[in-house]
Amino acid sequence: MANKPIVATASLAGCFGCHMSLLDIDERILDLIQLVEFDKSPITDIKNFERKCDIGIIEGGCCNSENVENLKLFRKNCNILVSLGECAIMGGLPAMRNGIPIQECLEEAYLNGVTVDVGDEPIIPNDEELPMILDRVYPCHEVVKIDYHIPGCAPNADLIWDFLTTLVTGKDLELKYETLKYD
Ligand code: SF4
Repeated sequence: MANKPIVATASLAGCFGCHMSLLDIDERILDLIQLVEFDKSPITDIKNFERKCDIGIIEGGCCNSENVENLKLFRKNCNILVSLGECAIMGGLPAMRNGIPIQECLEEAYLNGVTVDVGDEPIIPNDEELPMILDRVYPCHEVVKIDYHIPGCAPNADLIWDFLTTLVTGKDLELKYETLKYD
């Protein structure tokens, strides 16, 4: 990466906890913006890719057609694509629905669940503007090629920092035991 590398990030079927962990590098965020520039990302609020990026960081897996579209867009626009956190790597918490038939999930969420407002006439939303829900939640590497995985829920901020600085400086990554976790 000859010039300052460009980084883009996205949250698909995730809770934004992985992005919060990225921000948990605290004052090192000032060092990070000396090393990289951010393009499309919830951090910058840039909605569309403005240029080809060096590194794409993905939080969350794919639970609907919009997630798949967005992930493919990141693959097309980023030279290196990184799955950040368990939801991106394995589907995470949203994938708990994978063992349940989709119709049963929809009925529980919108018709029969304890949080359904019985005062209204409950319906399963079916507006054509809504993204199509997938049969199950897919980890990112089952949809596009992923180059690196950063484990954790959420991944440790120091691990994210070490990974990013290693990637942009080309040094070897020294994995510290205390930064690695898989839950
Ligand atoms: Fe949230 Fe954990 Fe999923 Fe990250 S891995 S999006 S912190 S649930």
